[in-house]
Amino acid sequence: MRNVGKIPKKINLPCPVSYDEPMSRHTSFRIGGPADLYLKPATPEQAARIYRVLNREKVPTFILGAGANILVSDLGIRGAVIDMSGLKGCTVSPTDRGAYVEALAGTAMSEVSELALENGLSGLEFIYSMPGSVGGSVWMNARCYGHSISEVLLRVRHVEPSGRILTMEVVQEQFSYKRSPFQSSASLILGATFDLKPGDRRPMQERMRWIKQDREQKGHYLYPCAGSIFKNDRAFGNPTGKLIDSLGLKGRCIGEACVSQLHGNIIVNTGSASAIEVLKLIRLLEREVQGAFGFRLEREILLVGQWQEEAI
Ligand SMILES: Cc1cc2nc3c(=O)[nH]c(=O)nc-3n(C[C@H](O)[C@H](O)[C@H](O)COP(=O)(O)OP(=O)(O)OC[C@H]3O[C@@H](n4cnc5c(N)ncnc54)[C@H](O)[C@@H]3O)c2cc1C
Repeated sequence: MRNVGKIPKKINLPCPVSYDEPMSRHTSFRIGGPADLYLKPATPEQAARIYRVLNREKVPTFILGAGANILVSDLGIRGAVIDMSGLKGCTVSPTDRGAYVEALAGTAMSEVSELALENGLSGLEFIYSMPGSVGGSVWMNARCYGHSISEVLLRVRHVEPSGRILTMEVVQEQFSYKRSPFQSSASLILGATFDLKPGDRRPMQERMRWIKQDREQKGHYLYPCAGSIFKNDRAFGNPTGKLIDSLGLKGRCIGEACVSQLHGNIIVNTGSASAIEVLKLIRLLEREVQGAFGFRLEREILLVGQWQEEAI
């Protein structure tokens, strides 16, 4: 993209910068072409400044968490990527009903869950061993094992494109199944505070161990992937994985992108799959389910970067 070369000088910060950064290094799918400009802030202040300058200079910007819910195109990303994984850390502040745990956006959600356990604080067991950062999980309103992140979310610190830093007190009605208000705003999330209650360590630890084992049995960590490709529509009755499985599509491959043998709603990269192979497989699943059940699957995975028009 034109002029991105001048941006690091305008930002004037000592943070890692690179050009044509392969996004395959930063996604759980291990897929994705180059980003024109890649910046990795180390503090919230750096992130806010970078975001302000990129917006002022009208550089299209993608905010990257742990890259666990995205499919980046083979052509890569035109403009800039702000990698938030350098903003890590948590603090625990006791309250009369438990504690507030404040975590920076790049902290792994699973680490926050472990820290809560160490401190005998309950509420985040369900998210243990799910890949993803605090920022990405709040943005997605990540959900698993019957709970959503919004249930324990108290407030979110975020920055507007102008560089203004704000704190949002969470209103539960603004969050719903895998939806957060950040999906319709242009804010960059700097950190989040969780409201946790005192808990008994032993059952909490057992629950977390069980969840990790369950994910292992479902093959979540066997191959690079991005978790569920489609949302589950409860109104339809069956979870999406079951619908796909019932059509005998487990194990179906396009190139080296395959529907997991263990879970119909997961596509895995069995070697060096391309983004376009994954996308073709997604479309095949959509067509098959629509044809068999008259039901349109809703994608959970986000397509990021520059796609050929005919690809989308
Ligand atoms: C093996 C596996 C299992 C999974 N299981 C589940 C599951 O059970 N439930 C579930 O909900 N998800 C699951 N996922 C998907 C993924 O883990 C979650 O969606 C996670 O919350 C994504 O977080 P991330 O940091 O990787 O976000 P990314 O994939 O990096 O980004 C996702 C979106 O969030 C935005 N974003 C990220 N950080 C910020 C920020 N700081 N400020 C503003 N916007 C930001 C990005 O721009 C993008 O639009 C799974 C993934 C894998 C690989």
